[in-house]
Amino acid sequence: MNYHNVSFAAAYGTSGQLPASTRPEVAFVGRSNVGKSSLLNKLFNRKKLAKVSSKPGKTSTINFFNAENSHFVDLPGYGYAQVSKSEKVRWAEMINGYFEQDRNFTLVVSLIDIRHPATSLDVQMVEFLKEAELPFMIVLTKADKLSKSQIMRQKAALRKQLSFGPETEVVACSSESGLGIDELKKAIERHLAE
Ligand code: GDP
Repeated sequence: MNYHNVSFAAAYGTSGQLPASTRPEVAFVGRSNVGKSSLLNKLFNRKKLAKVSSKPGKTSTINFFNAENSHFVDLPGYGYAQVSKSEKVRWAEMINGYFEQDRNFTLVVSLIDIRHPATSLDVQMVEFLKEAELPFMIVLTKADKLSKSQIMRQKAALRKQLSFGPETEVVACSSESGLGIDELKKAIERHLAE
């Protein structure tokens, strides 16, 4: 897949506004500030395609990107403490609403910060993905902040915390150094080819 051909398609403020699913969808979820925009920009090799927020939680829309024979879907970041209750309700409506629809769920990339244990919302997200039997993988973000041995340790700790079997793919990535990005691209392409 040519990641240079990716373009922004549209932003939706409610799941009800989403167009019918016409292509395989690769969706990205994670708590706000986990590094989701940076990772998308790194994947697409574009500095500003997905916004890197100075203020986390500011944008809460579902953003669609056109890629080769697929859509990449940037779901709003969860768990930002400083937003109002009504904004949290809106966020939940968007995430739940997206996953409740009849869509071509090809892969959900669930992002977790490699430096910390998964938060309770990360755990909820992963439990939901397992229960709904959605095809998903985990990206551990900001891996440049840790040494190789720390990465191995954290990977194992998170696998244990989230009770992953060997079938769950976990890739440590860095949008700064590029670590893991090729592996992530290969995983996405494998799912799109299935
Ligand atoms: P989002 O809210 O999930 O979209 O997160 P952003 O992409 O806006 O990133 C949040 C913060 O983490 C920003 O200050 C980024 O510069 C920083 N960040 C994102 N990815 C990385 C990474 O791979 N390594 C490091 N060191 N910092 C990162």
